[in-house]
Amino acid sequence: MSLDIDKIRADFPILQQKIYNRPLVYFDNAATTQRPQQVIDALIRTYTEYYGNIHRAAHFLADKATMAYEETRAKVRNLINAESSDQIIFTKGTTESVNLVAFSFGESFIHEGDEIIVSEMEHHSNIVPWQLLAGRKGAKIIMLPIDNNGRLLIEQLDTLITERTRLIAVTHVSNVLGTRNPIQEIARIAHSKGVRILVDGAQAAAHLLIDVQDLDVDFYAFSAHKMYGPNGVGVLYGKKELLEQMPPYQGGGEMISEVKFSGTTYNELPYKFEAGTPNISGVIAFGAAIDYLQNIGIENAASWETELLNYATAKLTQMGVRIYGNQPGKSGVISFNVDGVHFFDLGTMLDKFGIAVRTGHHCADPLMDHFNIQGTVRVSLAFYNTKEEIDVFIEALKKVISMF
Ligand code: PMP
Repeated sequence: MSLDIDKIRADFPILQQKIYNRPLVYFDNAATTQRPQQVIDALIRTYTEYYGNIHRAAHFLADKATMAYEETRAKVRNLINAESSDQIIFTKGTTESVNLVAFSFGESFIHEGDEIIVSEMEHHSNIVPWQLLAGRKGAKIIMLPIDNNGRLLIEQLDTLITERTRLIAVTHVSNVLGTRNPIQEIARIAHSKGVRILVDGAQAAAHLLIDVQDLDVDFYAFSAHKMYGPNGVGVLYGKKELLEQMPPYQGGGEMISEVKFSGTTYNELPYKFEAGTPNISGVIAFGAAIDYLQNIGIENAASWETELLNYATAKLTQMGVRIYGNQPGKSGVISFNVDGVHFFDLGTMLDKFGIAVRTGHHCADPLMDHFNIQGTVRVSLAFYNTKEEIDVFIEALKKVISMF
């Protein structure tokens, strides 16, 4: 099915505006996507029609809010084909999901001298929580390297995994290289050696069909704000046997069964991991974002994004810029540098043409070290982008380069 991009764009009010008197070209979708009116309406509807604090509800508004909140949980379960809804934990984002596992899985399963394998292409949010855990427990972080094309050297896992390895932390899709990692294969290798796997799905969930059972991952984390949903909402999926053995991450309301000063018992899954009042309206509106994405069809979105990716890559390659990451099947992310021009200057000048790109290290310092660079310019695409926008971007880039 081909997408009606004009119709889709009309759903996104923010895309209609001009920046410095030029039509906005939004190419920073890997940092955060924009929201369709349907999601904005869901937020407004929640606040204007049925906002109340969820669970233990004795009144109409709270009851309705609880139902809508739990409906999103069911939608997430369906989206990633989890075995059951109680394996879907709402957090405030991928970062919190990873920290939850690092703390809580770490408490139960990581001991002094244990090893955690982390890939070289990880976002800081899938590195630092493991370093903190390693510091607390006296564990070790082992790096799984990449090659210069941005491919993860998974054949090294055979030697990197030892009898002390407990977990592999790896991204599904790199936010810098666009590389899509062979998660099913990594999970198979890990499990054959009794090792668990956590997948950072932040850059995957809006662009790939995810089936956590088929991938056979132990943990999968992602953020709603990169999926056309509200910010401040994330998901952690976990295998039930693990989640049940893991202690709570935070203490507070909702996560308890009974509290006495002599001791507390904890609530069942998923509530054990959802202490305090969550982002109620955000979770409810996330449900509308999932509906929107599924209406378009993630595979339809991905195939349009790939067409845009190929179109932009060909033009940039013709210009002779250096692109980092060229793996087959890569996602709609292009990181590049232009000889003799600082990435920050490029980004700042492109902004004056109404073009939003990201510049810098993209929270992936080890990856920057691999390529011996300080940063890149990054173009990241979404289904609402167009070839005309890429043309505008390429013309602007040529002008900017000619100024230096
Ligand atoms: N992992 C990857 C690959 C990302 O791109 C990002 C966001 N840039 C994150 C994790 C962190 O996501 P969040 O800030 O939503 O927690």
